Amino acid sequence: MLRGRRSPDGGEVVTYARVAVPVATGQAFDYWAPDGVGIERGSLVRVRLANRRCVGVVVGTHATSDVGRERVQPVDDVLALPPLPEDVVALAEFVAGYYREPVGLALAQAVPPVRSGVRRRAAAPASALRLTDAGRAALGARIARAPAIRALYAHLCDTPAGIDRDSIAALPAQDQRRLSAWRTEGWVEEPSPAAGAHRVDLNDAQRAALDAIDAAAGRFSVTLLQGVTGSGKTDVYAAAAARAIARGGQVLLLVPEINLTPQLGARFAAALPGVRIATLHSGLPDGERLDHWIAAARGDAALVVGTRLAVYAPLPRLALAIVDEEHDASYKQQDGVRYHARDVAIVRARSRGVPIVLGSATPSLETVLHAEGGRYVRLLLPQRADPRARPPAIRFVPEDDPAARDGVSGPLLDAIRARLARGEQSLVFVNRRGYAPSLKCTACAWEAGCTRCSARLVVHRDPARLRCHHCGHAERIPRACPSCGNVDLHARGLGTQRLEAALGAAFPDARIARIDRDTTRTRGAFEAVRAQVAADGIDILVGTQMLAKGHDFPRLTLVGVIGADNALYSADFRATERLAALLFQVAGRAGRAALPGEVVVQTAFPAHAVYRALAADDYDALAADLLEERRIAALPPHAHLALLAAEAVSREEVDRFLAAAERDAHAARDRARADVEVHSPVPSLLARRAGHERAQLVVQASRRPELARFLDAWLPALAAHPGRRVRWGLDVDPISL
Ligand code: ADP
Ligand code: ZN
Ligand code: ZN
Repeated sequence: MLRGRRSPDGGEVVTYARVAVPVATGQAFDYWAPDGVGIERGSLVRVRLANRRCVGVVVGTHATSDVGRERVQPVDDVLALPPLPEDVVALAEFVAGYYREPVGLALAQAVPPVRSGVRRRAAAPASALRLTDAGRAALGARIARAPAIRALYAHLCDTPAGIDRDSIAALPAQDQRRLSAWRTEGWVEEPSPAAGAHRVDLNDAQRAALDAIDAAAGRFSVTLLQGVTGSGKTDVYAAAAARAIARGGQVLLLVPEINLTPQLGARFAAALPGVRIATLHSGLPDGERLDHWIAAARGDAALVVGTRLAVYAPLPRLALAIVDEEHDASYKQQDGVRYHARDVAIVRARSRGVPIVLGSATPSLETVLHAEGGRYVRLLLPQRADPRARPPAIRFVPEDDPAARDGVSGPLLDAIRARLARGEQSLVFVNRRGYAPSLKCTACAWEAGCTRCSARLVVHRDPARLRCHHCGHAERIPRACPSCGNVDLHARGLGTQRLEAALGAAFPDARIARIDRDTTRTRGAFEAVRAQVAADGIDILVGTQMLAKGHDFPRLTLVGVIGADNALYSADFRATERLAALLFQVAGRAGRAALPGEVVVQTAFPAHAVYRALAADDYDALAADLLEERRIAALPPHAHLALLAAEAVSREEVDRFLAAAERDAHAARDRARADVEVHSPVPSLLARRAGHERAQLVVQASRRPELARFLDAWLPALAAHPGRRVRWGLDVDPISL
């Protein structure tokens, strides 16, 4: 509580603070605080809103308020945290404006998790204990069976530079005892700056890329680092980061997946001895995330590695931003505030006048187009960094053949068998979790569907259930067809669980691990399997796209891809681009080091452009084709879209809302004289979800300013609709339709 509080009428000199609060109404509200408590733009304050208490961000201060003085409420508390820096406040304001989101919600993205209360602690001294490679393997293999050590293990993984002494002191006594036992085992060690130093001699292409990035220091530019999988982009990032840090700067590294942070963080820790690294992602416990946020804000952490939310990290000395796997869809936040972290990072780099590097083996078509237009500098790493590594051999085999077992073709089974005989590892990839994507009656047309969604129920095992992947609904598997009574129900198609079972039956002695969202829900579980594979304890790895990214297993020489054709039937305009990125990525997992790799793709359409590009190892040719298709269809990046999505319990209500929105849109277009095309409303791809009918309306513009002018005119009309029973949201630059 602020002391010396009195009402504004009490004669005391007060400051009025305009506070953006996390509510959908979008305004900021005035509160007062005694003069001299140090409130400024960016301050984090606790205020009351109606009867709720919340944390808001001060966006401005004034000597007077337009609201009647007696109606202004006091600021309850100023959090003992550094205020959000001006560039972060301005960035959130930009996000609010560009993506048409309430400014309070946009700013809330930048607020660190403070619910746990601010832990007070001294500035951290040198780090004290970190995981060793031996510890990674030994503990990783253990935590599947010992859940008690998972949190500590995950903490170590999240703190690649080491857990500092104070943090260790704050751990439960049990964990402290564990750490000292692990130290005796050599599983954790005190990091000595020189010992951990990881030196790779950059090859010529890497060195040229590093020099180009380095030469860009001190001003804004965007560089595309396009390097084939395994070309050593990470070492270029690390070297570029080291140079920026040596000059006194801070570096922001965005990565797509939570699961990527520990492994990548460890590589950076090795390459940047003595540098404090802060990780930021939503999987971190609040207290840790807050500590890391503070370390970034104080400038103690020279490198911040995080997922999309880290784009708002406070970085007083920001000198370089890097977006790894810039094409990855997880940079786009799909609910709440819809923003694209790569694009926001570019905006931030521009406003701070620093260079930004976008890295990918399969850059997004947006980025390719900018590079071709000369707006981005394009640097190439055309070869795998390990001189022994060769591009994998690519083979296409039919989905169906007489030797197939549960969807796994004979040639793929043979290839796995050969790996087992040689003691090498295989990865088999299918993009669906669960046992089978559908349950069908063999006698009539019945197929298990979700009563609340327009979707099939997925068959799961352990426990045996039918599950909806859209609303979470689960039910028992029926013994007989509810429609005709037939007891012969058929689980159709292939999910990761079935694949695991099929391979288990085909190779009873093989050690098989499955990685998908179901097996990696708990903290540290993913790291456990990864460590096991690295320690050579796994022969066959089965999983979804989670497996595709950023993992480097030297004994992995075979990648099998099942069910990729599904993407070719998709109505989503980005499906082919995504499939290409995925295929190039999984292909890159095979044969990273001395052992040659092979990729076996099960497909009915080996002549499809996306497979031909994979076989020719030519992403650029495919990107050129896809860009041409997009140009003809007037789709991004050759056009700019806004998507209005609406849902309600009754279809009629959705239709009425969107019909009115369409009329408003025509009027707004004419009023603003904006060159946009307003499409008629259509049902969404998933037309019903969780009992709500869903539909959408797309607006298309060939130029971005036209779209912005149109939205300015359209949105006030939309907001005026009394759509209490209709939930709607606008998505600017949607990544799928
Ligand atoms: P990418 O991120 O481009 O897919 P990585 O950065 O993961 O590739 O590098 C792939 C592998 O090559 C890693 O094991 C890395 O240590 C190794 N590597 C990177 N640069 C070199 C180099 N100059 N010489 C030898 N090996 C290298
Ligand atoms: Zn039936
Ligand atoms: Zn459902």
